[in-house]
Amino acid sequence: MSLVITGTMAFDAVETPFGKVDRIIGGSATYAAWAASALYHNIKQVSIVGYDFPEAEFDLLAKRGVSFEGVEIKQDEKSFFWSGRYHEDMNTRDTLITDLNVLASFNPQLPESYLDCEYLMLGNLVPVVQQSVIKQLRKRPKLIIMDTMNFWMETAMDALKETMQMVDLIVLNDAEARQLTGEYSLVRAAQLIRNMGPKYVVIKKGEHGALLFYEDQIFAAPALPLEEVFDPTGAGDSFAGGFIGHIARANDISYETMKTAVIMGSAMASFCVEKFGPERMKEITPADIQTRLKQFKALSAFNEALELI
Ligand code: AMP
Repeated sequence: MSLVITGTMAFDAVETPFGKVDRIIGGSATYAAWAASALYHNIKQVSIVGYDFPEAEFDLLAKRGVSFEGVEIKQDEKSFFWSGRYHEDMNTRDTLITDLNVLASFNPQLPESYLDCEYLMLGNLVPVVQQSVIKQLRKRPKLIIMDTMNFWMETAMDALKETMQMVDLIVLNDAEARQLTGEYSLVRAAQLIRNMGPKYVVIKKGEHGALLFYEDQIFAAPALPLEEVFDPTGAGDSFAGGFIGHIARANDISYETMKTAVIMGSAMASFCVEKFGPERMKEITPADIQTRLKQFKALSAFNEALELI
């Protein structure tokens, strides 16, 4: 059994009210792999990097059960580069630079050992590349989830909508859900998104938690109120990685397991924001995760016995 994760492995420059970093490791697949590999250990990465991406980053993830046979290294080009600046509220940000570099010509050929995966996470990436990964698989995985970003809505909306028709679940943030549908109410936006293909929709609301929509049901997860959010970059990818990592570990795609997966995703996102880049994700232990899950449980546990009449 395996989990395939696609997305970017990149360099980021990030500015937050707490500081500025010029060139740190980032990328949607990097964050997702760190989060998922805390829970599940047969992960197969699909990505592309240039000559400048450090070998040591692969080695660290390889120790956690992530394999890189499906990662192409282009010796004559640079890795994907993204730069962003967060606003004072840390929930919103402006993208300053998106340099596609190697990503501009990415056309992955999945290795034979990837073709029978049970779980597939399409991290934030060119929508036609996301589609190409699905099409190459020998059989349909038990669950396909996708992430995306405003950048692809602005540059590749038609292809993005086609990818959406091919997946079971989409994860996106509140601003992206509103941009995709033109609808302010997230409940209505989720309904419209479900009409576009995915049976399940997860809408992340930064420090206000996340919502899972399925048929006429809604599950709400809080976000852990943190004293200090250092760098929110990668929180969405860590959420998605934690979500699919939990599902793959449980090997169960029931709605009940998905609810726990939303909490697991929220826990991983809460670790991610505690330091710049994926640094915090590298440190966390199973005991840290267990403690954080208990904090999440305590956050909204209450006594139900309320008799008003
Ligand atoms: P998140 O904060 O979860 O939205 O993810 C931020 C990460 O996504 C950064 O590490 C970036 O390198 C990566 N990223 C930014 N823009 C894109 C894009 N258009 N496509 C794929 N990955 C991106």
